[in-house]
Amino acid sequence: MEIKCPNCKYQGEVNKKTPGHFCLEVLLWIVFFPVGIIYSVWRLTQKGYYCPRCDFKNVIKLGYNYQEYKTNIKSDNIKSKENTKPKNKKGKK
Ligand SMILES: [Zn+2]
Repeated sequence: MEIKCPNCKYQGEVNKKTPGHFCLEVLLWIVFFPVGIIYSVWRLTQKGYYCPRCDFKNVIKLGYNYQEYKTNIKSDNIKSKENTKPKNKKGKK
């Protein structure tokens, strides 16, 4: 995924990132059970693309799945043509 950061003008490829720490999550689950749930939910909601330079969250996604979208349209257009002719019924008297 290519992103553009409005904060520091960074532009380039980034990977999805989950904020927080897994160890801390486990610790919270064991010691402070309700807090652990909240922390897990928070991590999941915050999961996304971050700027690698300044850790800015609301980055602009460039060309989101555009190539995939194009190939999907192409495969949709290919339709197998089947000519089904109605058979003439010969009525017997
Ligand atoms: Zn940035």
